[in-house]
Amino acid sequence: MNPSFPPDLASLATRLQHQHAELTAQLRRRLASAQPLASLLLAGNASLDDPAVIRQLPRCDLTRLADELFALRSLDAACARLADGSYGRCLSCGEPIAPERLRVQPTAQNCLSCQTAHEQRLPTAGTRYQPS
Ligand SMILES: [Zn+2]
Repeated sequence: MNPSFPPDLASLATRLQHQHAELTAQLRRRLASAQPLASLLLAGNASLDDPAVIRQLPRCDLTRLADELFALRSLDAACARLADGSYGRCLSCGEPIAPERLRVQPTAQNCLSCQTAHEQRLPTAGTRYQPS
């Protein structure tokens, strides 16, 4: 529908890598007093779910930090999908993800219907999730 989509995948990869580098630099600055924990967090080798990790962190907004780490992981995953040629396909059903969705959210992993179904399955009290 939009003639500018699909974008040149090479330029999309460059854009995502740029975002990744910027976010990494931003997180490193914020966590500068908590090296090498910052390196572990940025590499995905430490989790904010771990109370021991939380105790070592400098005073910071954990919700924001968690959101940024999630965004970093999403960028990692999108770059990997671009590299292996699976970018733009839903990880759940394998169908192409709507270009409109990718334009708004280039790191989207699922088509809208799979994402909606996934969000409806998310536990609200920690007990409803049933793996299929
Ligand atoms: Zn799907």
